[in-house]
Amino acid sequence: MELRFKIKNLSSLTVGGTSASATVDTPFSSLGIPGSTIKGVMRTAVSNMVSSGILKGYTSCNEIEPEMIIMKHKKIGGDCDVCKLFGYPEVEGRLFVGNIRLTKEKFKLTRVSIEDKTGKAKEGGLFSQEVIKPGEEFEGEVILDLAGLDEESKLKQVKLLLYSILALRFWRFGRGGMIDIKLEEGEKICKVIDCKNIGDLLNELGRWLYENSVS
Ligand SMILES: [Zn+2]
Repeated sequence: MELRFKIKNLSSLTVGGTSASATVDTPFSSLGIPGSTIKGVMRTAVSNMVSSGILKGYTSCNEIEPEMIIMKHKKIGGDCDVCKLFGYPEVEGRLFVGNIRLTKEKFKLTRVSIEDKTGKAKEGGLFSQEVIKPGEEFEGEVILDLAGLDEESKLKQVKLLLYSILALRFWRFGRGGMIDIKLEEGEKICKVIDCKNIGDLLNELGRWLYENSVS
């Protein structure tokens, strides 16, 4: 199942990475916005929703270290729902997130590091960062592999994916950025699974959350 989405950055956005040509301290990744970055943020954000009890009915091992993941999975008698969707080291999940190529202009922003203790600028604390200015839109794509699942498991994976996308709206993205995200043609999902219980979620994801906050 393929789903397209749009991302809008609400704040200036930097996804750090390497860039041979950049003359700034923190260049924008030359890969654009890597799918692995988006997937990583989705995973962290939705794990947090599950383990804090905001999202009920799912399991999450909430671990990063491969050994800890395996240990927790043994405890709960199998892979947790989050790992089923996102995979974990050496085990592929069901979700693929495409890279987003960058076609927007990048700006150099100079910032000042502030010392936590004193709240004053650090000496020599100037640094520069490559950013995309707020309010730009990007298009991306996710692919969810539902092969071999019964109807109930399909619905469960799709719902977890939708909540992961929703969770991106409330989580830091890149270097402290905030983004909005919406699904394009989310109703396509209803050709694959029975949508009657996820209508509200699809509606919610079909529009920008922060409609008027960026001009
Ligand atoms: Zn897990």
